[in-house]
Amino acid sequence: MSASRPEPSIEASGPLESIGAALFHPLGVEGVYARTALYEELLEKLSALISRERDPAAEVLRFPPVMSRRELEKSGYLKSFPNLLGCVCALHGTEGEIRAAAEAYESGGDWTRSLGASDLVLSPAACYPVYPLAARRGPLPPGGWMFDVAAECFRKEPSRELSRLQSFRMREFVRIGAPAEVAAFRDQWMGRAERLAGELGLPAKLDAASDPFFGRVGQVMAVSQRQQSLKFELLIPYRPEAVPTACMSFNCHRDHFGLAWGLADAAGEVAHTACVAFGMDRLAVALFCIHGLEVPRWPSSVRRRLGL
Ligand code: 5GP
Ligand code: ZN
Repeated sequence: MSASRPEPSIEASGPLESIGAALFHPLGVEGVYARTALYEELLEKLSALISRERDPAAEVLRFPPVMSRRELEKSGYLKSFPNLLGCVCALHGTEGEIRAAAEAYESGGDWTRSLGASDLVLSPAACYPVYPLAARRGPLPPGGWMFDVAAECFRKEPSRELSRLQSFRMREFVRIGAPAEVAAFRDQWMGRAERLAGELGLPAKLDAASDPFFGRVGQVMAVSQRQQSLKFELLIPYRPEAVPTACMSFNCHRDHFGLAWGLADAAGEVAHTACVAFGMDRLAVALFCIHGLEVPRWPSSVRRRLGL
């Protein structure tokens, strides 16, 4: 996502309503949807395609939708995006206290006032748990680490747009290593992603970007991120002339996670990290918007590439 770009494209109510209705069912909260078989089958094909593109050296890890609150705090998330974070809360205390809180709901009161934070947050991106996990293994092996991770992610941004979900799936390739190795990984993936989008018939364009850092200090952070070319996005317009939607991002964190987690090589040099994120739901919506709902009528080269 880019802070400076206007909100993208397809709305749950509007000209593309029919596409949305074939892909999603509302669940009573904006930005949270049940996914249809048509949609899910494509998502599985897309996931399989990304797996075929994975570096053979990558270690595969699948994360749950929650992660350690302490680990996310230590990663510095609250400095950058406190407004997007969801924390798991629960009723704590004795049986009597918990019962009293639950009964408050029955008598028209507000049971949520009794909630207390647990030690879990909802993962805001798939890669956060991997840095502490790698750090627990000790010094980096020669050549560093490469991971293929995925998680259902949460960001508190309710929206009617089908491209901005509160709960969405993210797949990431993560590199941890020497600065030059990490930079080469990120740059190489920008080229590969552009080629892949072309093979899928998606009119994609790469552009420099910045994260939507919170508040006024955040604006300064965003400018600096852009100036240093730390973030790029693969942008796809869902309709001709539409504001393009960021469907992938290519992020260089430099020594941010290396310092936070003590990631270092055998000589004690702080590791750099980078991640390449596939917005699985945005890519799937893009494919349906561009090729239509009738998958058998998609271009044969696209169907072949996806194994459809
Ligand atoms: P980033 O960490 O760069 O903000 O997000 C990585 C990727 O996740 C984005 O390029 C995008 O494809 C996907 N993503 C981010 N926010 C949302 C969202 O609100 N809804 C959906 N469906 N995907 C998102
Ligand atoms: Zn990441």
